[in-house]
Amino acid sequence: MTRKSIVVGNWKMNGSKQQIKEFVAALKAEHQKKSFPQGETVICPPAIYLPFMAETLTTLTEIKLGAQDVSGFEKGAYTGQISATMLKEFGCRYAIIGHSERRQFCQEDEEGIAKKFFMAKSAGLTPILCVGETQEQRHSKLTSTVVLGQLQAILESQGADAFHGAILAYEPVWAIGTGLTATPEQAQEVHSLLRQTIAEYDANVAKDLPILYGGSVKANNAKALFSMQDIDGALVGGASLDPQELVAICIAASNIH
Ligand code: PEP
Repeated sequence: MTRKSIVVGNWKMNGSKQQIKEFVAALKAEHQKKSFPQGETVICPPAIYLPFMAETLTTLTEIKLGAQDVSGFEKGAYTGQISATMLKEFGCRYAIIGHSERRQFCQEDEEGIAKKFFMAKSAGLTPILCVGETQEQRHSKLTSTVVLGQLQAILESQGADAFHGAILAYEPVWAIGTGLTATPEQAQEVHSLLRQTIAEYDANVAKDLPILYGGSVKANNAKALFSMQDIDGALVGGASLDPQELVAICIAASNIH
């Protein structure tokens, strides 16, 4: 298996300079104890803290930085937005695209999300595309229709090649920040469907694509989720604010596959 294991921490609208200092100091202490995991670890603080986090991380080069969102436009009269090139200039390497909280609270639609994905890729950022169904949609047996619709919006506009070097995250909306987690089997079923769908376009891209699970991942449920064949890591919200939890999840991820 050639796929990398990846853990992405999404801090959402949380954190402060003080919290970043304490968080990074705790990670550096783990690093010195040599308990630091080998897989890829990405932290996505609020955008305004990206430069400060980059400065604070200094020698801890194992941790990469990501943005929680990116503009779908290159530059110009888009007040309040941050372009992919600007993020890149400040050391950001990844960008979360289409998180359910942005779909819900910022009315992001498939067309806008596809533009953001395209801009991130064009600037050389790794897009992390989030897909997932609500509880109502799952109860109505619409999970496949919803996640495949979200995936097709990119596949149809940009082709399977767009996923070369990208990351996909299955995040059931009902599991985000709720303490409810999809069972490993429920998650695997959707991950496998996503991979098979991309494979119909390009088998190699599908085989190498990391598909992360997100939704109340914690140190105590990560291992079981990561034991599934098509789960290559996690997108972690709440638990990523706690350095010990994050390191434990990363350790679980480094034994994937
Ligand atoms: C998320 O923000 O993408 C997420 C999965 O959050 P949590 O881990 O808190 O459910």
